[in-house]
Amino acid sequence: MKTIDKIYINGEFVTPLGQEYFDLISPTTNEKLGRVRLGNTEDTQNAIIAAKNAFKTFSKTTIAERVQYLQNIKTAIEKRKTDFIDIMIEEYGGTRQFATISYEYMLKGFDSAINLLNTYDFTKKMGESEVQMTPLGVVGIIIPWNSSNGFICSKLSTAIVAGCTTVIKPSEMSAQQTQLIAECLHEAGLPKGVYNIVNGLGDVVGAEISRNPDIAKISFTGSTTVGKIIAKEAINTMKRVTLELGGKSPNIILDDADLSKAIPLAMSAAYMNNGQACIAGTRLLIPETKLEEVKLLIKEIVSNTIVGDPKNETTAVGPMVSTKQYARVQDYIQIGINEGAEVLIGGLGKPEGLENGNFVKPTVFINVNNQMRIAREEIFGPVLSIITYKTEEEAIEIANDTTYGLQAYVSSSDAKRANKVASQINAGRVQINGIGHDPMAPFGGFKQSGIGREFGVLGLEAYLEPRALIQ
Ligand code: NAD
Repeated sequence: MKTIDKIYINGEFVTPLGQEYFDLISPTTNEKLGRVRLGNTEDTQNAIIAAKNAFKTFSKTTIAERVQYLQNIKTAIEKRKTDFIDIMIEEYGGTRQFATISYEYMLKGFDSAINLLNTYDFTKKMGESEVQMTPLGVVGIIIPWNSSNGFICSKLSTAIVAGCTTVIKPSEMSAQQTQLIAECLHEAGLPKGVYNIVNGLGDVVGAEISRNPDIAKISFTGSTTVGKIIAKEAINTMKRVTLELGGKSPNIILDDADLSKAIPLAMSAAYMNNGQACIAGTRLLIPETKLEEVKLLIKEIVSNTIVGDPKNETTAVGPMVSTKQYARVQDYIQIGINEGAEVLIGGLGKPEGLENGNFVKPTVFINVNNQMRIAREEIFGPVLSIITYKTEEEAIEIANDTTYGLQAYVSSSDAKRANKVASQINAGRVQINGIGHDPMAPFGGFKQSGIGREFGVLGLEAYLEPRALIQ
C-alpha cells in the first residue's frame, strides 16, 4: 500500500497542510492501492505565491535556457518508461497498448515544444507597429484523470515555451502518476516555483485556482459541466481561459468507403482508452444501404475484442476508472434500451469472469436516432450508437446536430470527397481515414466542447499577451 503524502511547491516536496486523505482504488480489482493526502486552500495559495515569484525571473529566461529545460524533462521521462506505462495501467486501467502510445505521444510533445520555441517569432511587425508576444503570468493547469501525465506535459511544456510559470492540479485519482511526473520534473532541475503541483479536490484546490487573482490564465481539460463553473469564476478576475471539454464525436462512413478498413478504425475510435476519451467516435453514421454489412462486421470485431486485465498485451478494452463511472455507463445502457434503441452486441452487466473490476461489455446500439440521450450525451465508456443516413447532406446535418464539436471522423475512398465533407463539419479536428495526433495542429472544440485551442502556434499564443508598441 502506497501513501502519497507530499505535494510539490517551490522546488520541494512538502507535506500538505491539508489533513484529509483520498483512497486510490484499483479499477481492475477494486482493491485499495494506496491513499493520497490532499492539499487545501492554503497549500494552493502557497503554490500560487511560489509561481508568482518565479515568474519574475523565469519570464526573462533565454530561448536556449528554456530549450534546455524542455530537453532535461524529456530525458528524465525517457529514463522511467516502464514506470510510466505500468502506473497508467494500474491506476486507471488504461490498456498496455494505449499506455504505450500515450507515453510516446508525451515524449514527442517535447520535440514539438522545442521546435516551436526555436521557430516562433515573439516579436512581430503588425501595421507600422512592433508587437511583443509576452508571457501571460501564472497559469493554473487543471486536468482530468484520463491521460493525466500527457496533459501535464503538453500544458506545462507550452507554458515553458511561453515563459509562464504554473500551478498544476491533477485529478485526485491520478496521484501515483502525478508523483512519478513530479519526480521527473524535479530531476530536470527547473528553477524553483516554475511548476508547483497540488493534489486535491476540484472544489477546494481547483476552486482556489479559479478565483485567485494571481492566476492569469487557466488551462482546463475536463467535463463541460466543470468547465462552465471554472469559466464563471475566472471571469471575476478576467483570467484567460482555455477549456478543453467533452465531446460526442460523429464518424461518417461515406458510401464509397472501404468497410474492411473503415469499420475496424471506427471501433478503435469508439473504444479508445476503454471508451473514456473526449475524442472517442461515439456516433457512427452509416449509409442506410450498408447497415446489414456493417452490422456483421461490427459483431465480428466486437466478439473478438479482448476485454480484461489491462496489463495483458492483447487486452483492447480495460475497466472503467471507478465504480461511479461504471455505474454511469450502465445507466446510459439502460437509458438507450428505455429509449427504444436495440442492443446489437454487449449490453448491461459485467463480462463473465470479470466481476471484481469495473468492466463493461463493449456495447453497440442500432435503431438509434440522433435525438436520443445516448446520441447526445457524453457517456465516457465503450458504448457506440449507430445512426443511418440516406444522403451525404443528411450525414453532415446529423454530424453537426450536437452541442459538442471537438472531433469528427470521415472515411471515404475518395480523398477529395472526404475533404469536402470534413470541411462542413463543425469540429475542432476532423480525422480523415484514420486516427492520429498532430502536435503542431490546433486542438480544441467548437460549441460546448470548449474555448480556445491548444498545441502548435495557436496553442502557444493562448499563453501569450500581445503588447503593441506604436511609434
Ligand atoms: P471533471 O470535469 O470532473 O474533472 C476535471 C478536473 O477538474 C479534475 O481535476 C477535478 O478535480 C477538477 N474540478 C472538479 N470540480 C472543480 C471545480 N468546481 N473547480 C475547479 N476544478 C474542479 O472531469 P473528469 O471526470 O476528471 O474527466 C472526464 C471529462 O474530461 C470528460 O467530460 C472528457 O470529455 C473530458 N476531457 C476532455 C478532453 C479534451 O481535451 N477536450 C480530454 C480529456 C478529457
